[in-house]
Amino acid sequence: MSTKTKRFILPETEIPARWYNIAADMPNKPMPPLNPATREPLRAEDLYPIFSRALADQEMNQTDAWIDIPEAVREQYKNYRCTPLVRAYDLEKALGTPAHIYFKNESVSPVGSHKLNSALAQAYYCKQEGVTNITTETGAGQWGAALSYAAKAFGLELAVYMVKISYEQKPYRRSIMQTFGAQVTASPSMSTKAGRKILTEQPNYQGSLGTAISEAIELAMSTPNCKYTLGSVLSHVTLHQTIIGLEAEKQMAMAGEYPDVVIGCFGGGSNFGGISFPFMRHNLLDGKKTRFVAAEPDSCPKLTRGVFRYDFGDEAGYTPLLPMFTLGHNFAPAHIHAGGLRYHGAGVIVSQLLKDGLMEAVDIPQLESFRAGCLFARTEGIIPAPESCHAIAAAVAEAEKCRQTGEEKVILFNLSGHGLIDMASYDKYISGDLMNYTLTDEQIAENIAALDAKI
Ligand SMILES: *Cc1c(COP(=O)(O)O)cnc(C)c1O
Repeated sequence: MSTKTKRFILPETEIPARWYNIAADMPNKPMPPLNPATREPLRAEDLYPIFSRALADQEMNQTDAWIDIPEAVREQYKNYRCTPLVRAYDLEKALGTPAHIYFKNESVSPVGSHKLNSALAQAYYCKQEGVTNITTETGAGQWGAALSYAAKAFGLELAVYMVKISYEQKPYRRSIMQTFGAQVTASPSMSTKAGRKILTEQPNYQGSLGTAISEAIELAMSTPNCKYTLGSVLSHVTLHQTIIGLEAEKQMAMAGEYPDVVIGCFGGGSNFGGISFPFMRHNLLDGKKTRFVAAEPDSCPKLTRGVFRYDFGDEAGYTPLLPMFTLGHNFAPAHIHAGGLRYHGAGVIVSQLLKDGLMEAVDIPQLESFRAGCLFARTEGIIPAPESCHAIAAAVAEAEKCRQTGEEKVILFNLSGHGLIDMASYDKYISGDLMNYTLTDEQIAENIAALDAKI
């Protein structure tokens, strides 16, 4: 009998009591968001009409390194946390690598992804402030599903605008939201001015995240006691996700190891920041030399090939101007199956960290991501979300380098979700119907030039 430990399990009493706010420890703070009309730096108060106050304050907080997790939120976390840290022995063996590969398994949450970590916190603060209704948008449906669960847990009514093409192509995520009691509307819809305008101009429009955001914000502004919520990109979302890395830190210690490389897939940056920042803290403060690698799709390469500048967070240009790595808010990513990674920009904290050389990024072609995902399924027995496949592909590439050099590096990646509701995508991959959508330099340059003309 082998005495090797495979899963490192923490009891619920070890659920962290505080989130980690890396902004407090950054050598260069992110530049402020700007009011697009006046170009004046935004204050937290400017966000109060749309967001919960507590969340707006967290968004702008650059001084407190630790933020208490409310007891009611920790109580909810007990339904699925602490999540396991797993040593991927069988994947290591299949790769013939001397590297030690670990993954943090966020796919065990009731909705199948890390998104619930922030959904619960956001619903809690809204409830505390007397809010009765919340709105949001969702693309592939992961965020909408998480928020539906959280709204039910804290007794809020939720309206979700789901991008029309996903509403039709991913009916099961829609059913999950409805099962938890949320009201789901295909976007664009006739229920808002923004939706009516677009439908009048283009009756067959299949929808986009940008339009769905505009509809969700409009509904929040026109409904009493109603706030808008967002599942990625913003700094308060990543703050909540640091629970992933804080648990992983304790679990790596149980394994008697410390990561040389930490990897997360990258949409807006929340799961990447969530697993990375607690370890990056030790680079910033204690001289550790861990590398941090964000894995993005090569069809939407804002970190590896985008520019650092002020840009809007949404297609319509309703949000503040944010200092970010971006391909332009006018960028329309190809319809890859990792819907959660189809976003034009990166959060302001990760953008500053990348600019300062404190993290790295790689871009992964769609076919390579699914190849890595299938290898992971066949070795570790978990079917990963198409988004998570990008992190796995980056981990596999690191492990293969170790095979060549003989280095026994410790690699840690975040398994952000499972793919059991994405089997249509696997079907297409297996039957050879998927392709890569690598962008040319001209396509990227053209998009940035259009942006320069506008902002
Ligand atoms: C939404 C999502 C992502 C991407 O969002 P981040 O904010 O970059 O983490 C990644 N994986 C899964 C499973 C998702 O649902």
